[in-house]
Formats: sequence, structure tokens, C-alpha cells
Amino acid sequence: MRIGAHVRQDSDPIGLGAKLGAEVVQFFVVDPQSWDKPKPHPLAEQIKASEIDVVIHSSYQINVASTNNRLRMPSRQAVALQAAAAAELGAFGLVVHGGHVRSDAEIEAGIINWRKLFERQQDKGGFAVPILIENTAGGNHAMARHFDSIARLWDAVGDFGAGFCLDTCHAWAGGEELVGVVDRIKAITGRIDLVHLNSSRDEFNSGADRHANLSEGTIDPELLAEVCRTAGAPVVLETPADGVADDIAYLREHVG
Ligand SMILES: [Zn+2]
Repeated sequence: MRIGAHVRQDSDPIGLGAKLGAEVVQFFVVDPQSWDKPKPHPLAEQIKASEIDVVIHSSYQINVASTNNRLRMPSRQAVALQAAAAAELGAFGLVVHGGHVRSDAEIEAGIINWRKLFERQQDKGGFAVPILIENTAGGNHAMARHFDSIARLWDAVGDFGAGFCLDTCHAWAGGEELVGVVDRIKAITGRIDLVHLNSSRDEFNSGADRHANLSEGTIDPELLAEVCRTAGAPVVLETPADGVADDIAYLREHVG
């Protein structure tokens, strides 16, 4: 399986990935805190031709579930534009967080909004790369924190070829056991396209989204290695930069 990392500088992602010995890199195509539109990457040809696989993480403001038009509309547009930019770089997917609504009463509307994202884009020929929906750690009205919500979401979006990104920190901090997690998710989604392999600074079910290096966090590293062994998907570390090389080394040694 291919192991790599999220690289925080987007100017030369392949160079940074090579330095880390990564087989896959993840990065942003815009400032993740902005609504900027992606611009062509100066190293697009190099990135596309590289042996290192590429996946793009979408920006953080995006919330396609939102019932607020002024958030949902730009979110839809941003997903389409960032998917197009990802395709220009030869990426195998665009990671999008499940997002959230403001109350339990809005959950159904949030699910319908996710479905509409795919329905509307289907009329335009679909997204340029697969959309990988990522589970999240926190919030009481999240679309993809608890696996029963993911099951409801999948009933609505599974037919559109939605992919799934499993984040181990988010599952743990969100209150989902990691023992057997791969089988439980695959029973819902039928697939795992990407693993975000992170330990957590916080305890089980804390609801906090703070990633930790594998040797520092509250999750048993052997359990994390087990997720990698069983997921059958590329693995991207989103752990603090200083410890990423050690995290990759640990996985190479323990996943085999
Ligand atoms: Zn993640």
C-alpha cells in the first residue's frame, strides 16, 4: 500500500513528498481558509508526470450540507472548481468533509443537499475527479461523524459514485471504535478510497479534532497499523510536520 503525507507547502508538493520518501502526497489547491478560486499550478506537468500519487484536500469553509444558501452555493461551486483543479494535477480524488447542519431537525435537509451536489453536477457531466467524503470528529449535527449518520448519507449519495476517506483521528475522537472499523465502514460505503492516518491528542469521543503523531497520541499505534493493513487504500498522514518522517517509518515497519 502507498504511504505518504499531507504537505503544507503547496508550491512544490512533489519535491517535499520526495524528501519524505512519500508515495502519495495530499495538498490544497487554494488557501484552505479562503474562498479563492484555484489557479493553474506552475508545476502542473511535473506533478502530473510524477510517480508520487496525488490527492487534493478541499478548503475548510466548504459545507455542502448547509441549509444556508449563502454558504451552500459557494460550497458547491468550490467543490466543482477544486475537483477540476485536482484533475489538472492528475489527482485521484478530492477530499471533502461531511459538513454539518445547525440542528438535528436539519439533518434530513443536509442529506438532501449532499445528494443535490451530485445530481446537479451530473447534469454537467459529473465531477472531474471522484469526491471522497471524509468523516469528521466533532459537532452534534455533523453529517459524517457517527457511522449511523454516514449510513443515512450513503443511502442518498452512494449511487453517484461518491468515495470515502476514513480519518482515524476523527473516528476515534468522534466516538467510533477503531477495532474492526474498516469492516464496519465498508459494510456501509462498500469502499475506502483513502485513509487519513492520524493519532489524536484527545481522548476517545472527545469531539475534538486535534491530530497527533503516532507515538504521541491517545490511539494505540498498533491499532492504527491494523487500519492500514486492512483498508486496502492509500494512506496519508496529517500529523504534526516534525514527526511525519518518523510516522512514515513506523508504518513502513509495522504494516509490511
Ligand atoms: Zn483528515
